Amino acid sequence: MISEAYSPQTRNTKTVKLQADLVVVGGGLSGVCAAITAARSGLKVVLIQDRPVLGGNASSEVRLWSLGATSHMGNNNRWSREGGLINEILLDNLKRNKEGNPLLFDTVLLEKVYEENNITLLLNTAVYEVEKGKDDQVKNVTAFCSQNSTTYIASAPLFCDASGDGIVAFMAGASFRMGAETKEEFDEGFAPNIEDYGNLLGHSLYFYTKDVGKPISYTPPSFAIKNAEELPRIKNFQLGDHGCKLWWVEHGGRLDTVHQSEDIKFELWKVVYGIWDYVKNSGKFPEAANLTLEWVGTIPGKRESRRFEGDFMLTQKDIVEQRDYYDAVSFGGWAMDLHPADGIYSEHNSCTQWHGKGVYSIPYRCYYSKNIENLFLAGRIISASHVAFGSSRVMLTCAHGAQAVGQAAVLCKEEGLLPKDIASKEHIAKLQLALNRNGQSIPRIALNDTDDLVAKANVEASSSLKFKGFSEADDWHPLKFGLAQMLPLKANETYSFEIEVDASEATSLELQLKSCSTPNHFTPDVVIDKKEVDLQKGKQKITFTTTKTQEQDHYSFFCLMKNEKVKVRLSDERITGLMTVENKINKAVSNYGRQDPPADINVDSFEFWTPERRPKGKNIALQMAKALPIFEPDNIKNGEVRPNANGNTNAWVAEIEDKNPTLHLKWDDKVNIKSIKLFFDCDYDHALETTLMGHPEDVIPFVVDNYTVKDASGKLLKEVKGNYQAINTIELDEAISTDALVFEFSKKERHIPVSLFKISAYN
Ligand SMILES: Cc1cc2nc3c(=O)[nH]c(=O)nc-3n(C[C@H](O)[C@H](O)[C@H](O)COP(=O)(O)OP(=O)(O)OC[C@H]3O[C@@H](n4cnc5c(N)ncnc54)[C@H](O)[C@@H]3O)c2cc1C
Repeated sequence: MISEAYSPQTRNTKTVKLQADLVVVGGGLSGVCAAITAARSGLKVVLIQDRPVLGGNASSEVRLWSLGATSHMGNNNRWSREGGLINEILLDNLKRNKEGNPLLFDTVLLEKVYEENNITLLLNTAVYEVEKGKDDQVKNVTAFCSQNSTTYIASAPLFCDASGDGIVAFMAGASFRMGAETKEEFDEGFAPNIEDYGNLLGHSLYFYTKDVGKPISYTPPSFAIKNAEELPRIKNFQLGDHGCKLWWVEHGGRLDTVHQSEDIKFELWKVVYGIWDYVKNSGKFPEAANLTLEWVGTIPGKRESRRFEGDFMLTQKDIVEQRDYYDAVSFGGWAMDLHPADGIYSEHNSCTQWHGKGVYSIPYRCYYSKNIENLFLAGRIISASHVAFGSSRVMLTCAHGAQAVGQAAVLCKEEGLLPKDIASKEHIAKLQLALNRNGQSIPRIALNDTDDLVAKANVEASSSLKFKGFSEADDWHPLKFGLAQMLPLKANETYSFEIEVDASEATSLELQLKSCSTPNHFTPDVVIDKKEVDLQKGKQKITFTTTKTQEQDHYSFFCLMKNEKVKVRLSDERITGLMTVENKINKAVSNYGRQDPPADINVDSFEFWTPERRPKGKNIALQMAKALPIFEPDNIKNGEVRPNANGNTNAWVAEIEDKNPTLHLKWDDKVNIKSIKLFFDCDYDHALETTLMGHPEDVIPFVVDNYTVKDASGKLLKEVKGNYQAINTIELDEAISTDALVFEFSKKERHIPVSLFKISAYN
């Protein structure tokens, strides 16, 4: 029993002091990825999250689907899903939760953090105070958990603010911005007219509905708005829309999105319950009789508040021109996506999105405060202009950048450095190497890994696919839109393609070979050659032999232009690095087949050629006159782990008929090997939304599920069954000395050959 006598003094709550190598504040996808990345390299991390679960806007409390450069597969960013830890999380989520249940995604994140012994996780714990030490450094942060009535004081040499509003950076005195820059400041044509369009993006609140199988009535709370039918946005509402589909239920862009956040939420509750009143009681939705509200958000999704200044500020031109920087550590690829500040009450379109032609690099200098010496920035608060933030704010871009932060913290600890020091050319190379070794795929930053023993090995394969075409299936695809087969083609070479088409009447079909103006993107903005072919009614084979050639090696597009009277024969075969795209529309990401921005906003005009999700999106049953040597075994040594625009699949692919696909690595002399890493094809083109949107498979069908690794004597070193991850790391109990490694792979999918991007081996 506890019995305490009256105290004339106030009492203090329990206080716990924590010392770490890195304190991460904010447990959204950014904070989670920064914390785990650092912890996996041995740093002691305290991760402080003010809410009961991890995930921030991606959690079951808010229910946003995480997105990034793949942009729902609605833009031209091919094979652009973010790699490394966030990809591992997405593939875990896919395996258990392909239907996109937000509650299950919570558990995937919690498990990931729980499994890291180096992380002390404080949930329901809000940071509210910052103490500064010497030289403009954060000394500690103080946080309170109302659930256990405990105050925590967390100290560390390094801090990462991933809190969305930048609670630590703000209190530490870091310079920040809130609201839009003028067009002039960074020569950003897309910078909004503040009076008309507004300064800030607002909050949104989601709801879910459910059919209970019998009529159910609804009485709204007294605070619900009574005039929902007058909302300009109400025309967006479709019965059955849940969660993310309601992103336009937005408010607060003209308010202080930090300090008036609760007011904004309350206004959104009024709107949500008012919309439901309109649906249930206006008589306009008789199909809604059996529907009830199943869930309404209690925490709004917050889009924008403070952005903090680093030594570099990402701006519109970096995105539009895909500029390269020596210190690139991450990439983005979501459209520059701004919203009218009046949100649900605005007469403007709910958003204005302009895409870049390809993914853009994000420099390391965006990820630390330029004033506070030991403070990293992660998530939506990184150093970006309002326009660039419109793109960099999406959660997979945030998470990918946060991996760079976690890894930079490791370097700081190892070498006694501060975040700013890592921006030097010497240290940045080490950071890029560490990131790329884990699949970060920083655009155009090559992996020069001198420790990787595989670089010196001779690689032989049981077979390698000499691609000459796809076999025929009894599947015919109408050319409702232009359809293109993407193929990595060489400069100065001509090609010949044969396909089978079926015309409903005599017509002509235009064929084009398109390529891209730079090796930095997959936008087919250059026509290399074209031909008009006259077709008779019925099935027939046609050929297109090019006479003109492209100037550089590149992924190119063999295009069958739109003609609704024509169908083309498809194949069931799917092969790593080869895919089809269509010149079609995806309104969800403002893709109307092409984008034609106003001339004065300095954004490119171009066509969209985008893929269909499986089971659609099949390859064209084409035959080529000469084979393409694009899947050679040496590809596994070139450091790349996904296809890139410069025309390299970067993959070894076995023949489809190879019954025992095998790779032999041979060294002239014995080498000592302690760890081995394999990089499989997890289809970086497929957008892996975490919530609401389901996916066709629980395991990406290109991933090799079963394999063995043996040494030169045939001794089994490892057998893996049921793999679904992109990266497999094999740590041997003891280092072995051998002059060969043998990898034998097997797969279940009949129409998909075994493939691999990379093997690394270290002693
Ligand atoms: C309605 C809406 C639609 C959007 N659409 C998409 C989309 O479709 N896909 C997409 O990827 N992105 C989308 N975004 C953008 C994206 O959700 C945010 O930009 C993103 O969540 C930013 O990530 P973050 O880690 O910086 O912040 P958050 O996800 O907000 O995470 C920050 C975490 O820090 C915690 N925190 C805050 N203060 C404290 C404190 N004092 N102490 C401890 N913890 C604290 C918060 O509780 C939160 O969990 C959308 C945003 C909104 C609001």
